[in-house]
Amino acid sequence: MVVAAAAKAATTTTSSWNHTTSIERRNKFSTMAFLRTLDNKGIMKEKFEITLKSATLIQADNRTFTTTATTDENYDFDYLVIGGGSGGIASARRAASYGAKVAVIEKGRLGGTCVNVGCVPKKVMWNAASIAESLHDMKHFGFSGYDSDAIHFNWNYIKRNRDKYVLRLNKIYDCNMKNSGVTPILGEASFVSSDSIRVVPSNPDEEAMVLRAKHILIATGGKPWIPSGIEGIDEYAMTSDGFFELEELPEKAVVVGAGYIAVEIAGMLQALGTDTYLAVRKGCALRNFDTLLSTTLDEEMQRHGIQIFRNTNGIAKIELSKDDSFRKTVYFQNGDVIDNVDTVIIATGRIPNVDTLHLTNANVMQTKDKYIRTNEYSETSTPNVYALGDVCGKVELTPMAIAAGRRLADRLFGGIPVLPVSYDLVPTVVFSHPPLGTIGLTERDAIDKYGIDQIKVYQSKFSNMYYGPWQVEAEDKPKTAMKLICKGDEELVVGLHVIGMGADEMLQGFGIALKMGATKADFDATVAIHPTAAEEFVTMFPWGLSNQISGAKHSPLNNNNDDDDDTTTNSQ
Ligand SMILES: Cc1cc2nc3c(=O)[nH]c(=O)nc-3n(C[C@H](O)[C@H](O)[C@H](O)COP(=O)(O)OP(=O)(O)OC[C@H]3O[C@@H](n4cnc5c(N)ncnc54)[C@H](O)[C@@H]3O)c2cc1C
Repeated sequence: MVVAAAAKAATTTTSSWNHTTSIERRNKFSTMAFLRTLDNKGIMKEKFEITLKSATLIQADNRTFTTTATTDENYDFDYLVIGGGSGGIASARRAASYGAKVAVIEKGRLGGTCVNVGCVPKKVMWNAASIAESLHDMKHFGFSGYDSDAIHFNWNYIKRNRDKYVLRLNKIYDCNMKNSGVTPILGEASFVSSDSIRVVPSNPDEEAMVLRAKHILIATGGKPWIPSGIEGIDEYAMTSDGFFELEELPEKAVVVGAGYIAVEIAGMLQALGTDTYLAVRKGCALRNFDTLLSTTLDEEMQRHGIQIFRNTNGIAKIELSKDDSFRKTVYFQNGDVIDNVDTVIIATGRIPNVDTLHLTNANVMQTKDKYIRTNEYSETSTPNVYALGDVCGKVELTPMAIAAGRRLADRLFGGIPVLPVSYDLVPTVVFSHPPLGTIGLTERDAIDKYGIDQIKVYQSKFSNMYYGPWQVEAEDKPKTAMKLICKGDEELVVGLHVIGMGADEMLQGFGIALKMGATKADFDATVAIHPTAAEEFVTMFPWGLSNQISGAKHSPLNNNNDDDDDTTTNSQ
């Protein structure tokens, strides 16, 4: 493997009085140089250079890749990326770092969904909502004043500052791309053929052009889906995109949908003071998640005051009230009605952004739901045309698109025969109130996959210590719930689920553990951090009794531990 060869190759490091550091690594395919310099204003400049031997054939995982970082005069670009979102920009910059001639075509704002109408503005509002919750809790810790007129929330203030932050990020993305040598092209792209793209520039004064590229990446993401043919839905409802345009806090809102975006928006609105209704087609929200998460979230949403309308079977129509109030009445298929609503948000799913791409001109195949069909290497049905991120509908998350984009560029231009990204055991957080996190299989899926005899489940539900001093009944305290799903005698952890305060920041480390193949014994061998909620995962009852042979190589419970002392087996 080249990677291993590179690690063994000679490395030279020099450091001189002007604070320039350089590291050079050579292997048979490329020379990589990392330069770090302090300029005369004391600003650190970093440069990463890779010089490739052209058209090197590389073998990885029984597959052959050709490095193509030498610009071919028959083409305008080595790599043309459609979509300047999470996956597209990450892949383009990585490709450019290997010397490829790269352009990104973006029809909207740089940064894509995540920066403009997704993760970033959502997290800002979630933070605002979390502050609202803390203020609500303050009386339990001896602070007064919540019920006075001293505390006001100004939605428009945070909206304006959030917009400025997003604008700053748009500019940073533009700058980073240019600094990496990527050419940004603002306009809408469509296929003319498998290696030619027509661009209609966003600036109406510029003329359309056709660009040819050796490799083309489709990273056009997704967009909200609204059910069609429903009276009033187009005129009186908005999607999550519209939620981020709201200038004022709604007084009464209906959020329609059962996915993570619906519960996140409902949670934020309710915490910030909107009278919030969540309407789900079936019994509850997040039905694809482990039932411990969906049922606990359901209870917690109701505790927060969200009113859940169940089994609605979808919206029937939305009517505008006859007076001048601009209020709406929402009618559901099961006969339920919610009236006097000022904001209706439809969060019923997302669809791939493919309508204007003219994929048939490039023979790119799609699934029945219009997602682009790709293999694990992001290859489409057409050679030299690739796709990744939300437009493929596999794991629709920003870090997944970024990882797939970088790996693709590594293989195409870096001469690095890395394996494809893995779509397994991806940690995911839902920024609901409280947040929840999940990795791997649900209990139901684990039983379906391995059989009930092979599965052992550890579970815990408790009130976070934060609520300890609250003078309320135990059942009125918000709950944290956790579950470990283990497989076989070795009790390999194949699923980990948590809901409760801090779940969002808890999950990343457990993600590494599961990727490394941690067992229940490994969890038990890890000494708890006290007092935290996360410690429950490493002390789950019964503690210390799982098979200590396959896992927990450094367990104090294992006799084969070199520096073992007189620790004895323990149980709770
Ligand atoms: C409300 C919401 C909250 C989210 N929260 C999270 C979260 O907390 N964590 C997380 O990991 N993920 C979250 N996501 C998902 C995340 O935003 C996406 O998974 C991610 O942005 C996908 O990246 P992408 O590169 O595939 O597409 P995108 O980021 O959507 O980028 C695609 C780009 O292509 C452009 N484009 C489309 N068609 C064309 C064309 N024909 N020509 C030129 N340009 C075109 C679009 O304008 C867009 O800028 C959230 C999404 C939403 C909607």
